[in-house]
Amino acid sequence: MATTRKATKRPATTSSSNSHSPKFKSVLVVSAHPDDPDFGAGGTIAKLARDGARVTYAIVTDGSQGGEDPNQKDSELIAIREKEQKAAARVLGVKKVEFLGYKDGHLSPDLKLRHDIVRMIRKYKPELVITHLPGRVLDAPMGGSHPDHLAVGEATMAAVYPDSRNPRAFRSLLKEGLQPHEVKEVWIPFWTSGDHLVDISSTLDQKIAALRKHKSQVAKPGREWDFEKFMRKRHREVGKKGGFRYAESFKRITV
Ligand SMILES: [Zn+2]
Repeated sequence: MATTRKATKRPATTSSSNSHSPKFKSVLVVSAHPDDPDFGAGGTIAKLARDGARVTYAIVTDGSQGGEDPNQKDSELIAIREKEQKAAARVLGVKKVEFLGYKDGHLSPDLKLRHDIVRMIRKYKPELVITHLPGRVLDAPMGGSHPDHLAVGEATMAAVYPDSRNPRAFRSLLKEGLQPHEVKEVWIPFWTSGDHLVDISSTLDQKIAALRKHKSQVAKPGREWDFEKFMRKRHREVGKKGGFRYAESFKRITV
């Protein structure tokens, strides 16, 4: 059974401080780069999958800027990162990974991106969408406010409401057989100050194992141990807010 807890109490008309999450049949994670879903929500994703959700990743960019060597061929790095992402997804129980193929570092929340995310939402019909925060947070680490993250966050929010539910939006999708769909909730990983904690004590090891699959990103010499230590410390600190050993923190939005 999913164990979740609110980080802060809400008014009495909403669920109590130790409410359980609803079970989701279908979950779509829309992320800018390979590795983003696993870093941001890997423990929660593993838990949702274990509880029976069909989880799909939509990875918007090709990850071709995620390296330090300017001479490495784009095609080589793209292939490595796709392979790593598929392996990490398997560790977490994710059923399918879609790569939308946009160029890494070049995103804007334009109508083309919205259209392509609406296609994913209508195709997989998720009750829950997990994506990036659509705004820059100045007191959080800069990495969270990568411009591609902001673009995907904003385009996904617009795709959830109103586009994916509106039969008059992107009508060419109807010709592809993709009918309007209403998403119920959006969860956005929040560095520390979300309003919804998910207990990941039973899936943190799985998350770390998934992150290790992103060798091109995390297995730099001398960094591997620090990386695991960092993740455990961070999730332990988040967990303290809800009395969990380890937790991930989200902003939970009901649509
Ligand atoms: Zn990213």
